[in-house]
Amino acid sequence: MTLSSKLSDPRLFRQYAYVDGKWTHGEGGREEAVFDPATGEALGHIPWLEAHQITAAVDAAEAAFVHWRALRADERCERLLAWYDLLQAHREDLATLMTLEQGKPLPDARGEVEYGASFVRWFAEEGKRTFGETIPSHIPNAALGTIKEPVGIAALITPWNFPLAMITRKAAAAMAAGCTVIVKPAGETPFSALALAELAERAGIPAGVFNVVLGDPPEVSRILCAEDRVKALSFTGSTRVGRLLLEQCANTVKRVSLELGGNAPFIVGPDMDPREAAFAAVAAKFQTAGQDCLAADRILVHESIHDAFVEHFAERMAALTVGNGLESEIDLGPLIHRQAVEKAAAIVDDAISKGATLVAGDQSQAPGENFFMPVLLTGVTHDMKIWHEESFAPVAGITAYADDDQVIEMANDTEYGLAAYIYTHDIRRIWKIMRALEFGMVSVNSVKMTGPPVPFGGVKHSGLGREGGVTGIDEYLETKYYCLGALGSVSGS
Ligand code: NAD
Repeated sequence: MTLSSKLSDPRLFRQYAYVDGKWTHGEGGREEAVFDPATGEALGHIPWLEAHQITAAVDAAEAAFVHWRALRADERCERLLAWYDLLQAHREDLATLMTLEQGKPLPDARGEVEYGASFVRWFAEEGKRTFGETIPSHIPNAALGTIKEPVGIAALITPWNFPLAMITRKAAAAMAAGCTVIVKPAGETPFSALALAELAERAGIPAGVFNVVLGDPPEVSRILCAEDRVKALSFTGSTRVGRLLLEQCANTVKRVSLELGGNAPFIVGPDMDPREAAFAAVAAKFQTAGQDCLAADRILVHESIHDAFVEHFAERMAALTVGNGLESEIDLGPLIHRQAVEKAAAIVDDAISKGATLVAGDQSQAPGENFFMPVLLTGVTHDMKIWHEESFAPVAGITAYADDDQVIEMANDTEYGLAAYIYTHDIRRIWKIMRALEFGMVSVNSVKMTGPPVPFGGVKHSGLGREGGVTGIDEYLETKYYCLGALGSVSGS
């Protein structure tokens, strides 16, 4: 059965790049297959564009910028809201496409479509509130103030773990600000990005405003970073690649926003019900099969409830179902590819060789070669890879701690600083730990923390800038200061 036959609207499945409102072949003839990680079957192919075709996308975005920025904010809002409506109307097809190329269970994919669409609605409205300010003048007979203007063309480079929402969280902000965008999705999950392009076209977003380019990742990124006409780069992905891109943007002094890796601590206080906390930790660890920058990577449990917590965690983990995300009642789909499975196995082996205890996780039960059964390790310590590296897999590591000062030190013992979780009802403990954590986002007694109204982003090596919230649009705006002099005598100036 072909992929398009699984969709109620087959035209959402596109095997071309999308440049200047046209579906585009690669002129060099090179194509890459895209695989279903659950079955290993090829879903389709995408072209790799030649260098001059990437430059043509910049030409198109430059030409479209002239007209797009000139629209009134409410006119851009209307078009973005039409895009939002189409995302909602095609939620089921978008979710199916996502499960097929990414592997996450269908209910999670539906959730991501909702989540991704919610940023389009949020920024459609925020675009109408890009207020400047009036500055009390220190210059005689002058009026001072600021206006906000779009930065220009924005290049958006995105990962495979959230193939739709990581694009809309950037693109909707940029487009609402009046920028045009060139999206370079991950090669593993291009079809969600291309379906977004199809729906953008149907929503009346003009040619050249939303472009999707495909090709060799280092080559495409190098061209976009070196292009002086590209004024902003927004990247979500690994810290390793984020560093490379930051360097590549230095020559053209671009605006750079980076949403990079995470290594979230999940801190459980001694006052917690171990069952409640363990169930929350399972939810925070195993979403998207652990391939999540917010995954609870280091679970730090007070020694007084450690054993009970481990027992409840293991019980809850044992109930998780692993399988093809298109089937019903599946909690964990496959990992994105075989290398991810091998990396997870190596991280588990490393921890065990350094003294961690394997409580659960039998890989002989895996339903296919890209699947990894959930693993629970206890006795995890600082010298193990799992402490410092994102496992990006369903591998949970638990460590006991003695007091608040020790757990703060443990939690901050990482290059990353994206998200952290605290579970305790002791308000003094919450305040002390929350203030001491070197993370951009801290969630207390809640697994869910993200959404359009909040500033999403990290500190340390987890990134630069924030997405979402009232500040997310600022990444795509310049502040222009004006001084209107020689106005004559104005009262109060
Ligand atoms: P990745 O860095 O390998 O790839 C991200 C993007 O960069 C893809 O489009 C890829 O094609 C491209 N790329 C890869 N190598 C490149 C190179 N040498 N030069 C230029 N571009 C290159 O990351 P990934 O494996 O796709 O995603 C997982 C990572 O993303 C994890 O580290 C995760 O924590 C992070 N992530 C962060 C957030 C956040 O909001 N902070 C959200 C989701 C994922």
